[in-house]
Amino acid sequence: MSIKTRFAPSPTGYLHVGGARTALFSWLHAKKNNGQFVLRIEDTDLERSTQESVDAILEGMEWLGLDYDEGPIYQTHRFERYKEIIQQLLDQGDAYYCYCSKEELESLREQQMANKEKPRYNGKCRHNAEVKEGVSPVVRFRNPEEGVVILSDLVKGEINIANKELDDLIIARSDETPTYNLTVVVDDMDMGITDVVRGDDHVNNTPRQINILKALGAELPRYAHLPMILGDDGARLSKRHGAVGVMQYRDDGYLPEALLNYLVRLGWSHGDQELFTREEMIQLFDLSDVNVAASAFNTEKLLWINHQYIMNSEPELVAKHLSWHMLQRDIDVETEGPSLVDIVKAQRERSKTLVDMAEASLYFYKDFDEYDAKAAKKNFKAGADDVLAGLLAEFSKVAEWDGTVLHEIVLMTAEKLELKLGKVAQPLRVAVCGAGMSPSIDVTLELLGREKTLARIQRAIDYMKLQ
Ligand code: GLU
Repeated sequence: MSIKTRFAPSPTGYLHVGGARTALFSWLHAKKNNGQFVLRIEDTDLERSTQESVDAILEGMEWLGLDYDEGPIYQTHRFERYKEIIQQLLDQGDAYYCYCSKEELESLREQQMANKEKPRYNGKCRHNAEVKEGVSPVVRFRNPEEGVVILSDLVKGEINIANKELDDLIIARSDETPTYNLTVVVDDMDMGITDVVRGDDHVNNTPRQINILKALGAELPRYAHLPMILGDDGARLSKRHGAVGVMQYRDDGYLPEALLNYLVRLGWSHGDQELFTREEMIQLFDLSDVNVAASAFNTEKLLWINHQYIMNSEPELVAKHLSWHMLQRDIDVETEGPSLVDIVKAQRERSKTLVDMAEASLYFYKDFDEYDAKAAKKNFKAGADDVLAGLLAEFSKVAEWDGTVLHEIVLMTAEKLELKLGKVAQPLRVAVCGAGMSPSIDVTLELLGREKTLARIQRAIDYMKLQ
C-alpha cells in the first residue's frame, strides 16, 4: 500500500519551528516510502485564520523546499462535505442534537470541578433530547460507552483509552460550522491519508477521531505523534527562546538547508551523525527512530550547522542566498562589484551567517561612510600616509590587477621601508575596507579591483592630512 501523509497547519500565525519540524518529518516519511505528501490548510476558525498566515506558511514551505503532491487544500472550501458527513452521522444515530445551554454546561463543569471530577459532558441530550424552540442546537458525536480504543502510535507505542473516559464531543457548532475533530477526520478519510504525523499536543484527540472514523466505516490511518520541542531552559518552546517564524531565519542569515538539517535532528538521530544532505535525510529517516522524549532547541548548534553549510555548500548556492541579503542592503550584485561566488569563497570561513557575510562584504560594492574609529586610530599614525603613498605609486603601475602581484608589492614596500608587514598591510586594509578585518590582503585587493583600491588609498591619504 502506498503511503500518504499530510501537514495540516492552522493559519493563525506563521510557520514556526515546531510546525516546520512536523512538516519535515511528515514529508520525510512520505518521501522515504515513495509516498505522497499533502498540504492542508485548516482554516475553519474564521476569526483566527488570516491570509497573511496562509501566505507565511506557503512561503516557509517553499523556502525550506518542502514540496507537496497535493494542495494546498483549504478546509473552508469543503464546508458542504462536512455538512454531508454530519448529516450522515445524525442519520446513522452516531450523532445527536444537543440543546444544553452555555449556562447549563458551565454549572455542570463547576459542579464536577467541585467534586474533583474530570469535567465532561454528562450526556443529557444523548437520549431523547428535549427540543427547545428558538434554540439552535449543537451536534454531538455519540461516543461508544463501552470498550477501549487502542492507538498503536509509531512513536509512542501502544496507548489504550477506555471509551468511558471520552465524552460526546461537539462536531458542529450551533451556527452549523464543523469543529476541528470532525474536519480532520473527514479530510484524512477523503484524502486517503495512511499516516498521520503530527505534534503530540493532538494525542488526546486521536481516540476521539478514531471513533468517528470507525463510525464512518473508514480505514484507520497509522498515527505518529512527535514529541514536543523545548527551549534550552526546559520550558515549552516559545517566542522568548527565539521560536520565530521560519522566514525570520532567512532574514537572520540562515540557509534553508541548514535549518532543515537542524530540524531533522530535533527528536531524530542516526548514530552520532550531525550533518545530512536532503538525500541522506530521506534515505535514513525512519519514524521508529524518533525519540519519545522531548527535544531541546539549541541556537548555538543551529549556528554551528549554518556555518558548516556556508563553508561546505557549493559557493554558487550560498551566493544565490547571499544575493538576497545584498539586495536588502540596496546592493544589486548583478551590476556592480565582484562576483558573489568569489565573495563567498573569500568570506565563508569567517561568516557564521549570511548576515555576517553581507555586512562584512559591503565595502566591496560601495564606499563606506567612515572608518572604524578604533582601526583608524591604531593604523593611521604618523608616517602611515607615506606608506600608503608608496603603495599607491606602485599599485598604479601594475598592468594586470592580480592578487599575487599586489601582495608582492606589499612585501617589497615593507622591506624597502624596513617595516614589519603589519605596519604596511594594516593601514592599507583600513584604507580600502574602512575596518581592521577583511580576507587576506591579496584577495581583498583583487576583489576590490583597481579603481576602488586606488581611490580609497588616495582618500585615506587625504583623510590623514586633515587629522
Ligand atoms: N490544524 C492542527 C494544528 O495546526 C493540526 C491538525 C492535525 O495535524 O491533525 O495544530
